[in-house]
Amino acid sequence: MTERPPILSISARELEAWLSSRDVPTYRRKQLWGWLARGAASFDDMRDIPKPLRAELDHEFRITSLRPVAVSQADRGLTTKTLYELDGGHSVEAVVMRYADRSTLCISSQAGCPIGCPFCATGKFPFGRNLKSHEIVEQALDAARMLPAEGRRLSHVVFMGMGEPMANYQAVVESVRRISDPELLAISPRRVVISTSGLIPRIDQLGQEKLAVTLAISLHAARDDLRDVLVPINRKYPVADLVASAQSYADRTSRRVSYEWVLLAGVNDTERDAAELGRLLRGKLAHVNLIPFNPVDDTPYRAPDRGGVRRFRQLVEAQGLNVTVRDTRGREADAACGQLHERVMRERSAVTAS
Ligand code: SF4
Repeated sequence: MTERPPILSISARELEAWLSSRDVPTYRRKQLWGWLARGAASFDDMRDIPKPLRAELDHEFRITSLRPVAVSQADRGLTTKTLYELDGGHSVEAVVMRYADRSTLCISSQAGCPIGCPFCATGKFPFGRNLKSHEIVEQALDAARMLPAEGRRLSHVVFMGMGEPMANYQAVVESVRRISDPELLAISPRRVVISTSGLIPRIDQLGQEKLAVTLAISLHAARDDLRDVLVPINRKYPVADLVASAQSYADRTSRRVSYEWVLLAGVNDTERDAAELGRLLRGKLAHVNLIPFNPVDDTPYRAPDRGGVRRFRQLVEAQGLNVTVRDTRGREADAACGQLHERVMRERSAVTAS
């Protein structure tokens, strides 16, 4: 028997056509999307939809294609990481981070990642596949389901989970349109961050979408010889061209670009690195976000200690740049992207081997 399609794998128009073909008024589609946004876990929860229609929907569609297979909590419950199995067997992670003034979801756009940064847990296992747009939106719907019971609402989405979002461009843009759709999750694009290792043609394309999402560049090094190693796509799209493309995005959208810098002790946290970063970004609409490295097994990299983080921050500030240090959420929750996936896969192979 073939699986029923997930309800969000069809467009609003297709769903309305399906309803019309059953002589059901098309406003039911809006009601249904409203229930999804409010976290309905089944069609049967959709109380203002007539019961026979709920049963028919359940017969034809699934509410989501994602199956949660592992959950880990950290930061006294403020961070929840969920590993989902996708149709066909690959799996991806999503992380909910609760703050005083917002609730942010870190979302995955690919199962695995083809970029292969050597400090990243996701980059270490083989690339699986691109996610479909509904699989991306379903991660957000699952967070929207989890949060209201805590008196919270999903307010921000960052594409910083598994994968390179710009390598799955169409599905990512489509998912942002749905996440921001007032009839679905209604999260302003301004509260959505798309992070990229630097696929310049896609950054230029994004600038033309009239979406005004925040762009984050995974920079990590300001000179080509080091960035060629840390972010291998740099060999194709060198750092000066990347920053020029990001600056055009900032000019076009008036959105400040965020430059992410994972701090690796002794590798990219020296005076020289700060000076190079200053030369690259001074005078630009830019913000530097320092991220103390979250140690990943089988990599040669180490996290700097607190003093090292503080010192590098001061060096970057002295360059006249805006800089913050990201709080390292979820140290005990297999926090670096790909780590929960890696642990579950290890445990599964241990079970299979025993
Ligand atoms: S850091 Fe990002 S771009 Fe690099 S391998 Fe990991 S997921 Fe891919």
